Amino acid sequence: MNKERKLIIAGNWKMNKTVAESLNLVRGLKIELALVKEVDIVICPPFTALAAVSQAVMDCNLRLGAQNMSEHNYGAYTGEIAAGMLKEFSVRYVILGHSERRQLYKETTETVAKKTRAALAAALKPIVCVGETLQEREAGQTERVLDTQVRGSLAGLTPAQIEETIVAYEPIWAIGTGKNATTTQAQEAHAFIRRLLASLYDDNVSRRVRIQYGGSVKPSNARELMSQPDVDGALVGGASLEDRSFSDIIKNSI
Ligand code: PEP
Repeated sequence: MNKERKLIIAGNWKMNKTVAESLNLVRGLKIELALVKEVDIVICPPFTALAAVSQAVMDCNLRLGAQNMSEHNYGAYTGEIAAGMLKEFSVRYVILGHSERRQLYKETTETVAKKTRAALAAALKPIVCVGETLQEREAGQTERVLDTQVRGSLAGLTPAQIEETIVAYEPIWAIGTGKNATTTQAQEAHAFIRRLLASLYDDNVSRRVRIQYGGSVKPSNARELMSQPDVDGALVGGASLEDRSFSDIIKNSI
């Protein structure tokens, strides 16, 4: 597939996989994906598996991401993990502002913005999630929600920093439901985000930012979604937990 930007496909394992299970999955992915050069492939295991997985992917084309991090660099923040701690395990990406963090843990857009700036300051590439609820979509508020979340979550970033940032458009109604956005819905939302970035920065900067789609991506719908001009990859939850389905998503997207 001929794309303007290199595809980036990330697997968010969420709170799944022990260390042994993580290594097993990585073993399978390394075999399935050894020859793939066209896509940046990122896996995001739970924190407890980062050390072992980091060793296991050292010699291959799989890159490591974390699922969250603190906005602080160190200190009295019980249960939190700082960017510098992730870097010890060669983590390169970090998912921020996932809807589960926003909804279940009441993470605000202001906090997501602080985390995004902290990640970039530590040379981690943030994958910043935005997306509307079903109620918001049905009320015709999708663009308003995306406008607020994108402006807020990316507040204060320089043009160079925004180019290092990946935006993940994840309509909340499509996450873990088996009901993905149509290609038209995805393309419209991605094009809207790109136009917004062009208005906040300029066309050249906006054209370099990669925007992933997330929400029930599977081997059967990956190709069609990735064929959209402004869809530059995927953030995959459920289907990233098994080597064949994640690999097939990647292979079908090329
Ligand atoms: C996600 O949680 O980011 C996600 C996209 O999940 P799923 O692929 O399972 O819908």
